[in-house]
Amino acid sequence: MGVITKASTKKQEIIDITKEIKDIVSESSIKQGFCLVYTPHATCAVIINENYDPNVTQDILKSLNNLVPEGKWLHDKVDNNGAAHIKAAILGPSEIIPIINGKLALGQWQNCMLADFDGPKQRNIFVEIK
Ligand code: ZN
Repeated sequence: MGVITKASTKKQEIIDITKEIKDIVSESSIKQGFCLVYTPHATCAVIINENYDPNVTQDILKSLNNLVPEGKWLHDKVDNNGAAHIKAAILGPSEIIPIINGKLALGQWQNCMLADFDGPKQRNIFVEIK
């Protein structure tokens, strides 16, 4: 298993981790299989989407902020991050990417990214290959 560690620098940030995942797949001897990418944080998510046009990730954050406004959730009384938990729950903590001929089967416009909704914090992403 590989571990990727990233430090977000603001409250909400989407961080591309495709290169780090590809390096872990290359170092394994798996030619056909699956790559699980999972983050063990309740206010983070792992997503696969376009990162060539940076406006796509900005649009994703904007639409989630419209859907889940800050400051109106029961959990805010605990540590004031109810919206971050809801956004992470909508997107989910993991993705599974097929490995074909030793390479991630991502499409031309697909990258894998960590979405942090409660930064800035140091975050881990586990990569398990079978
Ligand atoms: Zn919380």
